[in-house]
Formats: sequence, C-alpha cells, structure tokens
Amino acid sequence: MATLNSPEAIRRRLEEERAALQAEIDATPIDNQNQKDSYGAQQHPADEATELFLRERNISIRSNAQDLLTQVDQAMQRLDAGTYGTCARCGRPINPERLEALPYAILCIDCQATMERGT
Ligand SMILES: [Zn+2]
Repeated sequence: MATLNSPEAIRRRLEEERAALQAEIDATPIDNQNQKDSYGAQQHPADEATELFLRERNISIRSNAQDLLTQVDQAMQRLDAGTYGTCARCGRPINPERLEALPYAILCIDCQATMERGT
C-alpha cells in the first residue's frame, strides 16, 4: 500500500484527474457562437430550446469541473506543503479510503458534510 499512496503516485493521480477535468471543460463549450455559425441562422424554435437547455447543462458541468479543478490544485499544493491527507478545516487525518476514492479531497468527511450544509 505504501507505493500506492506515495506522494509520487498521488501526484500522478491528481495530474490525471486534472487533465481529465481540463479536457471536460474544453469539450463543454458555453459560448455557442461556433455552433450557431455551423447550423446557420434558420433555427427551429425547438432547436433553440434544446440549445438553451444544453447551454445551461454545460454551464453546470463546467462549474462543477472548475470547482473540482480548484480542489485538485489545492490538493497538489497540500502535497507540496506536506499537509496532504489532513483535513484543511479541522486538521485531522482524512480517511485513506476517502482519499482513495477522491484523491483531491482536502476535507475530512465530517467537514465536507458541514460545508455542504452551508454552516
Ligand atoms: Zn475536518
């Protein structure tokens, strides 16, 4: 297990995660200018509704991916600082199983739940 959780292995996982998120953002345009050009000006109203729906969906996908990207960056900084694996809020160790599932987790599960409740 030591090799799986070495800083190098964690960094690789974070870098992979980062690249995947960046690719997701790149593949999710919210500026549909280019699409409009290729579809032409004669759009059916239903197409416009679909486009609006897709645009809103894309905005939400992108904002999720960007939030996660920020977390990945923070996790990398914590890896550099030697504080990776401890909660950024309460300073207690983060459950290794949680880190295995979410290598960019910077909060323990209790603090994450508290933050999500908005308290
Ligand atoms: Zn915590």
